[in-house]
Amino acid sequence: MKVGEIFCKTALNRTRIPGYRYCLNPYLGCAHGCRYCYADTTLRFSGHPARWGEFVAAKVNFAEVLRRQLGRKGDPAGRILLGTVTDAYQPAEAEYALTRACLEALIEVWPGAEVDVLTKSELVVRDADLWRRLRHSSVGFTVTTVRDDVAAVLEPGASPPWARIRAAARLRAAGVPVWAFVAPLLPGLTDAPGALEELVAVLRSAGVREILVDALNPYPAAVERLREAYARQLRWATGHLERYLADRRGYLRGLPERLARLEHRYGCRVAFC
Ligand code: SF4
Repeated sequence: MKVGEIFCKTALNRTRIPGYRYCLNPYLGCAHGCRYCYADTTLRFSGHPARWGEFVAAKVNFAEVLRRQLGRKGDPAGRILLGTVTDAYQPAEAEYALTRACLEALIEVWPGAEVDVLTKSELVVRDADLWRRLRHSSVGFTVTTVRDDVAAVLEPGASPPWARIRAAARLRAAGVPVWAFVAPLLPGLTDAPGALEELVAVLRSAGVREILVDALNPYPAAVERLREAYARQLRWATGHLERYLADRRGYLRGLPERLARLEHRYGCRVAFC
């Protein structure tokens, strides 16, 4: 994929995501191209006509702007989430290292910064040295399935699930706090018989002690892409997707109890957002 280059005016922005005060998004667009992603609005607002997953722009002055903002703001109050509408470790990061430069700026100017990243990329392991130095920070891996074939359909540009799980184990071994975000819970896939338990067991064996689970956001464009992907390549699960969309509350009934049983069985936190 061709990666464009743009200049940004601000790097550190306020966010309304619960638990966080600021967000950092060093890229516009995301090559992971997840079918359920609702961040495609960022492309539309920026006027790019490309389909989601087919356009990425690197904000080449991002770290420089961040340093300026950090210098002006004084003491940080509130957590920072890295990657709210992009994946900060998508393939372009291997070349541009904008996320790495952000972490270096934070360590230099706000060494006590509390930063979390959510990623679907094993590239995050490259920055283990920096994540270890950000003492109040953590790396979250989004994993919706352990099945590489399902992930290849729904998260085509991301690292395969097993690569993410191995990356979590490596970071944990390097002393970096890791957690997992099982989201969105994909109807008929993440919650297929035995699938959720297998996912929790695998994450636990990688050293993950905190797993957050969240339901699918029925954002219309994402639903349209998901319906198309299910119909073409995941036909066995389409009934579950439609049942979920018709009655979300009813579909999710009993899930918190199911998670509580897994929490008890595997000795880690498994919570429904
Ligand atoms: S990794 Fe995140 S931002 Fe990127 S396409 Fe997937 S859900 Fe969207």
